[in-house]
Amino acid sequence: MWTEPLRSWDCNKALGIGSGFSWEESVIKNEAGPFANLARLLYVSRITVSTTMNCRFSLLLLVSCMPFAACKKPTLPALHPETPAPKVEPVAQEPEPTPPPKVKSVDTKGSVVVLCYHRFEEKPKDGMAITPAAFETQMQALKEHGFTVIPMQDFLAWRRAEKAIPEKSCVITIDDGYRSGYDVAWPILKKHEYPFTMFIYTAFVKGGALSGGGSLSWAELREMRDAGVDIQSHTVNHQNLRIKKGKFQTQFPTYEEWLRNEIADSRRLLEQHLGISVKALAYPYGNHNEEIRAIAMQSGYEAAFTVYGQRLTYHSPADQLGRYAMDSTKPKIFSDALAMVGGGGGGESSGGGNGGVAPVGQLAAASMVTVPMEGETVREARPTIKANLATMGDVEAGTVEIRVSGIGPVPVKYNATTKLAEATLLQPLKDKQVTVILSALVAGRKVETRWSFNYEPAVAAASPR
Ligand SMILES: [Zn+2]
Repeated sequence: MWTEPLRSWDCNKALGIGSGFSWEESVIKNEAGPFANLARLLYVSRITVSTTMNCRFSLLLLVSCMPFAACKKPTLPALHPETPAPKVEPVAQEPEPTPPPKVKSVDTKGSVVVLCYHRFEEKPKDGMAITPAAFETQMQALKEHGFTVIPMQDFLAWRRAEKAIPEKSCVITIDDGYRSGYDVAWPILKKHEYPFTMFIYTAFVKGGALSGGGSLSWAELREMRDAGVDIQSHTVNHQNLRIKKGKFQTQFPTYEEWLRNEIADSRRLLEQHLGISVKALAYPYGNHNEEIRAIAMQSGYEAAFTVYGQRLTYHSPADQLGRYAMDSTKPKIFSDALAMVGGGGGGESSGGGNGGVAPVGQLAAASMVTVPMEGETVREARPTIKANLATMGDVEAGTVEIRVSGIGPVPVKYNATTKLAEATLLQPLKDKQVTVILSALVAGRKVETRWSFNYEPAVAAASPR
């Protein structure tokens, strides 16, 4: 169901990835965020329970909240399996404080790449499908390149400082919920003993409004769940969340209510049908913005994924974690993932009118991480402009130039080691729609790229709704 152009300019905070660039705000945000509180408040206990279906449920248990009575009480994921309610041994209610979880000593140095697949076909109809043989080769390559494939749950636990992960880790995800994930990919992944995650959009599940011949059923998803496959959310209807007008919106009076339904209801439905706790969201087409990200985090997700492939670190912002969206017509995306370099090519149209081969001058535009990002609205009159030029190739130092519409050339600092270009505006922005034009010499050739963002002075800020 990947039918729209993939654009993902989404990771401004990810600029520091691989560059040693310090993002203090994001660190602060992460550490002071609701999930830090959750981590402090929650003691994660894995209880194996026997049910008539021999399912395993991981239950989150709230332990000794009393000392934190002033803190916001976290909402616990609802447990409402269709299968009979598990019999849980009563948890000893210790009157004295429970020892704190063994945390805070987790090595935060690790790196993670997250791979995103869709369909597995002998004769791929488009780039979103990969042959079983190519998939097998890629799975083997992960081993050969020293990756340890870890479960999504370990990645999330690491981010909560609850569990260490190998320094070079990989998470495998399969989007949408196609049968070929079950029929073709699963046996290959089993053979390699690789854990993986299915990002499901619930209307596509058999019987749902958008289901088809290639859809998995709830029964098959339960079977996968029972075998240890991780299942997470990919919204209800797989709509581009940034587009405000859509056929599904007629049921909801406002865009915000529609968004909340898309994001939260898929989580609710998955938890209801599968009796699992859903903590991760994959934005359809990788598309998001500030409002979408905020709603995702308010809806109880710990992590939300884009398709902007990049090396993830302990401090990568939880609401925009980049995945390498595999495209069988663009093998570079997989080699970028193996090399843990940014870009990943996921920012380009999957329809690929040019077969994915962009002229050098446009290459950067499709895959560069910028601040402000494409389409973003900024309030500051003199925002700092940044771009990670890693995807441009070997940029010749001293040749980077940045021009800003309405202002003209601005002073640029370029760090050849981190590949970061940073421009300072000496005068305030004038136009509401701002275009940034960046040029540099790459192997003796001038390469130019541009992106746009919006400027709305703070006084004109919209109502906080
Ligand atoms: Zn999808």
